[in-house]
Order: sequence, then C-alpha cells, then structure tokens
Amino acid sequence: MPVSLNYFLLDRGDALSRELAANFHRLAEEKGLRRSENAPEVVVSIGGDGTMLHAFHQFQDQLDRIAFVGIHTGHLGFYADWKPNELEDLVTLMADGGGLSNRVVKYPLLRVQITSDKGSESFLALNEFTLKGADATLVAQLNINDKPFEMFRGDGICISTPSGSTAYNKSLNGALLHPSLEAIQIAEIASINNRVYRTIGSSLVLPKHHHCDIIPRKTQKLLITVDHLAIPYSSITSVRTTVADQKVTFARYRPFPFWSRVKDAFVGDI
Ligand code: NAD
Repeated sequence: MPVSLNYFLLDRGDALSRELAANFHRLAEEKGLRRSENAPEVVVSIGGDGTMLHAFHQFQDQLDRIAFVGIHTGHLGFYADWKPNELEDLVTLMADGGGLSNRVVKYPLLRVQITSDKGSESFLALNEFTLKGADATLVAQLNINDKPFEMFRGDGICISTPSGSTAYNKSLNGALLHPSLEAIQIAEIASINNRVYRTIGSSLVLPKHHHCDIIPRKTQKLLITVDHLAIPYSSITSVRTTVADQKVTFARYRPFPFWSRVKDAFVGDI
C-alpha cells in the first residue's frame, strides 16, 4: 500500500510556473499526495534556481526532515533540474510509495556568523555569502583558523558552498567543487594587488572544521548578501564562516550527476 507523502509547492509566480503548479497539484491529488504548508516532507520549487533559494530559506529551520526538488521553467537550473515535460513522471515517482530514504543526496551548507554592535546572528547559505564595501573599497583582515592570513583591499569577498561554486563563485574564476566535498571556497572580488597591497589572489578551499574570520576595518559602510538576500547591517565587528553542521537534502528520483549538470549548463554539446 503506497504511503501518502506531504508536499509543499513554491512557484516563481510567472504564467508558465503557475500553470505547471496547477497541473502538479491536480496530478498530485489524483495520486494521493497531500498538500502541507507546515510539515511537508518534500518541497517542490517550480521556476529557477532563485525559486529554490527562496524555498530553502523558507524551510531552513526544518532541513533535517525535508527534501527539496526543483522543476525549471526557464533554462536548466542547478537546483531546478526537472524539465516541465517531466512533471507527470516526477509526481508518479513521488507517489510510488518507495520512500525517500535511499533516493536523496545531501549537500554541504555554509554557516555565517555575524557579530556587530547589536550582538551575534547566524545565517545558513545554500549558494554563498558576500561582503562588499558599499561606497568605497572593502578593507578587511582575513584570519584563517584564528591566524592572520592577509589584509584584503578590493570590491569584496565571496564565500561559497560546493553547490554554490557554479553560481557567483564561477564568475569570480573560483573552482567548481563537487558537492560531496564538505568544504567552503573563499573567492576574491576584484582585489587590489600592487607593491603596497597584497592578497593571495587565488581561491582558497577550506575543509570542514576550519574557519575563516573577516574583520572589516571600522567605520566602513558594508553590503552583505546571503544567497539572494541583501541583509542590512551597520558596525560589523567580525564575520565567521565555516562549513555548517546541517546539510540540505535533495530528492533524487533519478540520477543527474553534478558533472553532467555542469556540462549541460556551461559547455553544451561537443
Ligand atoms: P538572478 O536572477 O540574478 O540569477 C542569477 C543566476 O544564477 C541565474 O541564472 C541562476 O540560475 C544562477 N544560479 C543560481 N544558483 C546557481 C547555482 N548554484 N549554480 C549555477 N547557477 C546558479 O538572482 P537569483 O535568482 O536571486 O539568484 C541569486 C544568486 O545569483 C546568488 O546566490 C548568486 O550566486 C548569483 N549571483 C551571481 C552573480 C554573478 O555571477 N556575477 C552576481 C550576483 C548574484
């Protein structure tokens, strides 16, 4: 007897995503899946990678019991890797009662702890965290595992997860990391390098249990982002970044290896 699964669906809000969402609900009802706003086991996102980022942040306090799955209505996404014409297959696989336990992949996340005059606050990022100077060059000391590493001057710093390495990090010439690696990557955004100022100039990959602290020079206006979110802050004392204890779970009803997604998205046919 198939076990009924609880799901929540988030769509991007454009006409195609809304139409697919309506189809999904209809098929899901036919196959006995239950809609649940508060306690879903699977969160379905219909739209693009940005929609998945919204879904992740909406349910980030329930990561231990939720699996995410994404359908793209634009170009192939990294998190949204099901095509619109595969909707029925997806609903059928979700409803077949086989359970999720052996049909998931877990990806590492980035933990960001920001300390300011107002105290300390933690965030989880699925893609990345960025710190930039708002109206002037960012000047910040980077410490790795509590040891001073460099004094950074430039536009900013991007610290990404392995699954986020194909996003902003890639535009900064960072390496693409397979999400089975529990690591974070520090990439520079337009660092100033001359006889006076010096940074490492390469991306750094930190394993689990290492941490990077960013200590901005006081009295700077800063811009902070966590994934798609811009977070207003004043007077930041320090930012600690590390691999998070929690992971995000994606439902893998059929295999779509990371390197195949990289090839499809960035290389195309050869
Ligand atoms: P958006 O609408 O500007 O989309 C940015 C693009 O990033 C989209 O094409 C999306 O598919 C892609 N993307 C998102 N996550 C990805 C991933 N893990 N791998 C590969 N591509 C990915 O913004 P949004 O939809 O709100 O997404 C926010 C994300 O945009 C941020 O997390 C950041 O990674 C990215 N971004 C990139 C740059 C850049 O490359 N210069 C600048 C700012 C933000």
